[in-house]
Amino acid sequence: MSWDIETDVVVVGGGGCGLVAAITAATFRGGVDVVLLEKNSRITPNSAIAGGYLQAAGTRYQKAAGVDDSLELMAEDIFRKNHGKSDPAVTLAVCRRSADVIHWFADELGMPLELALETDWIGHSRPRMHAHPKRSGAYIVQTLRERASGLPQVLYADTTPGRGLVTDDRGAVVGVLAGQEGQVQRIGCQRVVLAAGGFAASRGMLQQYIPAVVDATYIGAQTHTGEAIVWGMEVGAAIEHMTGYQGHGFITAGHGTRINPGVVSAGGFTVNAHAERFEREDQGYSEWAGVVLRQPGGVAVAIWDERVQRPLETTGTMAESMDVGAIARCATAAELAQRFGLDAARLARTLEAYNRGVAEGHDALGRTLLTEPLRPPYYAARITGALAHTQGGLKIDVHGRVLRPDGTPVPGLYAGGNTAVGLSGDTPDGYTSGNGLLMAYVLGRIIGEHVVASLRGEG
Ligand SMILES: Cc1cc2nc3c(=O)[nH]c(=O)nc-3n(C[C@H](O)[C@H](O)[C@H](O)COP(=O)(O)OP(=O)(O)OC[C@H]3O[C@@H](n4cnc5c(N)ncnc54)[C@H](O)[C@@H]3O)c2cc1C
Repeated sequence: MSWDIETDVVVVGGGGCGLVAAITAATFRGGVDVVLLEKNSRITPNSAIAGGYLQAAGTRYQKAAGVDDSLELMAEDIFRKNHGKSDPAVTLAVCRRSADVIHWFADELGMPLELALETDWIGHSRPRMHAHPKRSGAYIVQTLRERASGLPQVLYADTTPGRGLVTDDRGAVVGVLAGQEGQVQRIGCQRVVLAAGGFAASRGMLQQYIPAVVDATYIGAQTHTGEAIVWGMEVGAAIEHMTGYQGHGFITAGHGTRINPGVVSAGGFTVNAHAERFEREDQGYSEWAGVVLRQPGGVAVAIWDERVQRPLETTGTMAESMDVGAIARCATAAELAQRFGLDAARLARTLEAYNRGVAEGHDALGRTLLTEPLRPPYYAARITGALAHTQGGLKIDVHGRVLRPDGTPVPGLYAGGNTAVGLSGDTPDGYTSGNGLLMAYVLGRIIGEHVVASLRGEG
């Protein structure tokens, strides 16, 4: 075959997964040569939009905080939430490497990470969310981009979209088509890593696989148009859990910014337009999106107080919501009712009943995550539900190798991040917070290492 360029590995997608896979492939055990294709780095990728909360078990940050955690507990939490639907071996593989990747980020890449103890994460039986002090994924992506661009083994081709795969007559993936229209080049290589995100920005694919969310607000990257999943299918890969997705039920209505879901786990509650609570709030924020969208007007009002607000207000998403004026501080419940167009008497009754339940340790809606009664001043935001990212994708094995329906790998092909099937099963309630970046960063690291090992004949 004739090629315009030849290299060892092509990574398609320069977001979270692709950057880690490229850096690892270029540096692990002496490294190999990598071409990293990015559609457009100016469009913020999901890994940078993310709050940047990284779940990991057995880290030194947990040990220092006296948290006794294990990969088995982490995997159990993930399985409990996804009703046992994620691949057990893949789930255990990423849980097993999660602490290593946190330490690699800190020690090799110089990221100032810490255990994020500002809130309880629903579904996590131990505190295991790690984050940058600014609580934003953007800093992590920025560090990774700087590292990748500085590596001589990585040719970082921005504004150069992947356009398709090239296979040989055995069906092995041996190259990638890449470039802007009219300037498409053929890149020959030995391994291809698909890390081009999911399909949440493809109306056609949403219509086909998750029609219920076609018209939902979308808060992820516009680059997630699903083509890499389609190319995988074209070369014989199996797909899985295409109806799965992560929703987000704490999006500020009219602004589109995020409220930290910790406002409810720390003690806040929600009411609908009738000033009434509607469902226990201690559900995951992914499934909470659908719950809110079923309320009148598809909106609700989240209410919390100063005690809840203080530890959360410096997190990236809360700071942004404050900046755009999406969070109101109200001296009294009556003021809150007036600001949000709620019936004041009914809101007062709802608040009083909620607080009484908290004080007595018994919630009328069955909520079990109860902290302290709320006290004025109150904070509130009008919230709605949104689609964050898709969780269905190419089926993979524990090394990130893409699999055919018969379970054999498509030779030469890997997938990670939102291009690969996630850990949440086929419904939004299967998503455990932190699953997204786990399958981007930790799987990206596993893939990068396996690519090198396999090219050296060791994997
Ligand atoms: C609002 C929000 C908050 C989130 N918060 C968290 C969180 O706190 N913790 C967590 O674990 N998960 C979180 N997630 C999920 C997490 O962000 C994603 O699961 C993860 O970032 C996916 O990584 P990725 O590498 O697949 O995608 P990305 O980081 O988006 O990278 C994909 C890259 O591929 C590029 N690309 C696309 N098509 C092509 C092509 N044809 N050729 C070349 N390049 C291409 C894109 O431009 C992009 O740069 C959140 C998601 C959202 C939307």
